[in-house]
Amino acid sequence: MILIFLGPPGSGKGTISEKMVQNHNFKHISTGDIFRKTISNGTPLGIKVKQIINSGNLVDDKTTWEVAKDALEKFDLNSENIILDGYPRNIDQSFFLEKWLKEQSITNLKEIYFEISKDVIIKRLTSRMVCDKCGRTYNKLTLKPKIEWKCDDDNSELIQRKDDREENVKVRLETYEKVTAPLIKYFTQKNNLIVVKGDDDAESIISKILKSI
Ligand code: ADP
Repeated sequence: MILIFLGPPGSGKGTISEKMVQNHNFKHISTGDIFRKTISNGTPLGIKVKQIINSGNLVDDKTTWEVAKDALEKFDLNSENIILDGYPRNIDQSFFLEKWLKEQSITNLKEIYFEISKDVIIKRLTSRMVCDKCGRTYNKLTLKPKIEWKCDDDNSELIQRKDDREENVKVRLETYEKVTAPLIKYFTQKNNLIVVKGDDDAESIISKILKSI
């Protein structure tokens, strides 16, 4: 089955994905994580998308679909449970995915929408820290590491994502409202969109997701 996680930046999609991978045997595809890896590895794709991502803008649809398709092809989509986090992010991207899944005769698809207020998002994102090496997420206010600015797992340095700076968070939220939020209506009409509250505790969110699929 494929679960599409839809929601604004900072709504908890990545955190919930991490826990569902650890405890419930899900696989996680995050287009954002893949792009960040290409940037830190300095690949041609990373060089191309670095500026776009750091400033909080979206990568073009064709490039993003190549990345998403490439990741999806690594799994057996009929037998494995996959979380698709960060794709699709607009209606056209959704069409690419639907067409491709239809060609593969894959129909087991559910969309989960993480609902959350703008105030909470801004607070969360501007206080988020991530491990430069493994990508684990921390928060200056709510989820501090044991040693300041060091990852609990590998002792590497924690950094602030450039797109989490306040001015770039604003760009991301505007883009989300304009191009991604219309997917909520689209999925509601098409299927039964499952809605979770992004500021509930992680275990309640996961239990709601597991019960509804
Ligand atoms: P967010 O916290 O904004 O949800 P992600 O880690 O999912 O962040 O994505 C980081 C960045 O990667 C996005 O701001 C965008 O530039 C790029 N990106 C990720 N997924 C897509 C997509 N489906 N379409 C276009 N750009 C994408």
